[in-house]
Amino acid sequence: MAIPDKCKQLSTVDAVSDLREKVSSWKAIGKRVGLVPTMGALHTGHLSLVEKASSVTDKVIVSIFVNPEQFAPHEDFDTYPRGQDADLEKLAATACDLVYLPNISTIYPDGFETRVSLSEITEGLCGQSRPHFFGGVATVVNILFNQCSPDVAVFGEKDYQQLLVVKRMAKDLSLPIEIIGAPIVRDANGLALSSRNTHLTDNERVTANRLNRILSALSREAERGTPVEAILASGHEQLKNAGVDSIDYLEIRTEDKLTKLVNGPVQHDARLFLAVHIGKVRLIDNWPIILRTH
Ligand code: AMP
Repeated sequence: MAIPDKCKQLSTVDAVSDLREKVSSWKAIGKRVGLVPTMGALHTGHLSLVEKASSVTDKVIVSIFVNPEQFAPHEDFDTYPRGQDADLEKLAATACDLVYLPNISTIYPDGFETRVSLSEITEGLCGQSRPHFFGGVATVVNILFNQCSPDVAVFGEKDYQQLLVVKRMAKDLSLPIEIIGAPIVRDANGLALSSRNTHLTDNERVTANRLNRILSALSREAERGTPVEAILASGHEQLKNAGVDSIDYLEIRTEDKLTKLVNGPVQHDARLFLAVHIGKVRLIDNWPIILRTH
């Protein structure tokens, strides 16, 4: 594989046998291994996960694989941003030790027919609007875990439900892997970094920049004791005024089990969850609601 000049020092593998050999050699000398699974089109949010992984392990693997199983036929698999050379250049400047670039057949061998699925935790939010999504994520993450054998894996709170899904799966399947969450990285306007942001037009970005301000203001309202139903009604109004094309969901759910809160003041630490369409782009974000009374 051709690696850009600047990235010569960064090791890449695409075969599982090479990957396993490398990981075994590290483990043989007592190194702890961290994994950061990504779909590429890397930004500072992804790179923060690499730093987090390297702060708790000795060797960090970043996997780059755009997973077709988590996209429905009408979704943006074909147009999902890709740019391997730029990704490798960015990773070369981080604590990443190895980039794993599997081919489709390395992840899904001929005749593949196994799926991992979870129930309750995947029922609402993105699981409702994208019913295929978490099955695809859980399956590919499981495969990546089995191929990379990490001691630790790091996932972003940007995809908060996904983080809880992976934690649940690791616990339920007794995977010997510690799952760690990392905070959302935002740009100077507060917009949560996302590979899909590159598809926003200038006008759409103006709307996207408003999302985090709306979420933070709604969260402060919730912390002051305003009832959930009033917060959500106000949120819907503000999002429409901000120019979003449609609201997939705006909900308040508990932080641990994602139990949906529907009325009255928020009584326990919770999060506001948002998914909207702006033009052709679907964006998600979330914001903590932290009560100071307990
Ligand atoms: P993706 O490539 O979008 O599948 O994301 C790979 C990992 O990066 C996931 O664990 C995401 O939650 C995480 N991630 C994506 N965007 C951000 C962000 N803005 N801040 C922190 N983590 C992020």
